[in-house]
Amino acid sequence: MAAETCLWAAQAWVGGRWRERVRLDIGADGCWSAVEPDQPAPAHATRLAGPALPGLVDAHSHAFQRAFVGLAERRDGAHDDFWSWRERMYGVALRITPTQLRAVAAHLYLELLQGGYTQVCDFHYLQHAPDGRRYDDPATLSWALADAAADAGIGLTLLPVLYERAGFAQPALRDDQRRFATTAADVLALQRAVQAAQRPRLNAGVAIHSLRAALPASMHALADATEGPLHIHVAEQTAEVDDCLAATGRRPIAWLAAQLPLDARWQLVHATHSVPAEVEAVARSGAGVVLCPATEANLGDGLADLPGWLAAGVPLALGSDSQVVRAWPEELRWLDYGQRLQQRQRNVSADPVGGEPATAARLWNRVLAGGGAAAGFTRWGLQAGARADLLVLDTQDAALRGLPASHLLDGLVFAAPARPFRDVLVAGRWAVLAGHAPAAAAIGTAFDDTMAALWSAQT
Ligand SMILES: [Zn+2]
Repeated sequence: MAAETCLWAAQAWVGGRWRERVRLDIGADGCWSAVEPDQPAPAHATRLAGPALPGLVDAHSHAFQRAFVGLAERRDGAHDDFWSWRERMYGVALRITPTQLRAVAAHLYLELLQGGYTQVCDFHYLQHAPDGRRYDDPATLSWALADAAADAGIGLTLLPVLYERAGFAQPALRDDQRRFATTAADVLALQRAVQAAQRPRLNAGVAIHSLRAALPASMHALADATEGPLHIHVAEQTAEVDDCLAATGRRPIAWLAAQLPLDARWQLVHATHSVPAEVEAVARSGAGVVLCPATEANLGDGLADLPGWLAAGVPLALGSDSQVVRAWPEELRWLDYGQRLQQRQRNVSADPVGGEPATAARLWNRVLAGGGAAAGFTRWGLQAGARADLLVLDTQDAALRGLPASHLLDGLVFAAPARPFRDVLVAGRWAVLAGHAPAAAAIGTAFDDTMAALWSAQT
């Protein structure tokens, strides 16, 4: 849809709070050239149909897992946990084709746009053909994701993943991990290929699957060779913590902080199991933490020390991860609800002493800034120099009607079951307008056909 040059919002989230009468100018590069509150609407401006929020970065996604959503919610044995879920997830990972991946990812990315995300970091470890052989172009599945992002109109940070072994004491991969095998050199080559393509709204960092799945020398090689975002699954499961303690004598976050040059490039995904000294070490390093509340609940991972991470000032970001939830308001809701259930208190994440009594606003401002950094952006949000992304709230949505303007974010996060984003702007272009995305019908049909093909063989 058409590129905009000047927008005007009666209300917009600027500088961490609602401001009124905001003029937003878009440069030829698709970034905000000026964002100025308290301005009259210029005659040539497009007036937004509702209050404007910045788009959010989804800092942790495995797109192919969208094909599996809703299909793992039945227990078929005496025990069901992360590891039994992983066995089922591998079943999809082992058979999805590049064309199917594109169709699944495009459907997911459109849902993410409608759920308020305008950029997604895909932690991409599915690299090879189903039999484990390399594609002629090793980036074949990376292009499937990049094409899917272009189909939907979302920005993509591709994170090719280092995946070398099955565990601390298992130097090789399991046979059912054959599509994941990479070395540090492979990962850097994939990153270079993506960057060299110079596609719009596409950038690349690198990732390390986990401490158990990578050799220390390879992790050092990646850290030495890359400037962009560097993501790692760090401490999702207590079994991982136990294995790391047994293999190295340290807990995962402690080992990482002691052995690798942690800094602001690093994003610690699922920093679920931590002790206070680890939180302090991460805070000193400048590294960020990515939490995925809905997935961590769905997989029974455990509850992160959210109050600790917040108090230490560690950058925080949100991820949709296994894709059970694809909208950030619900993720933010569960971020605080987990703490409320555990502590038997309300508004655990609010900070009235520090000047932010609103739980939603405090969490939202933290994940906005942390998400931008996790995707490699130096500026993010409604500010000059940042990419021209925004969300227009539908205040006629049943859940938001009647709320005072000052409490719209609170209502959106804690009392709106749907995704009341009317319009979504990415890099100065409307990806969703009046609830409509241009490619939605084609993307939906391709997804239906793909799901039928993927699952018909299983029944
Ligand atoms: Zn993950």
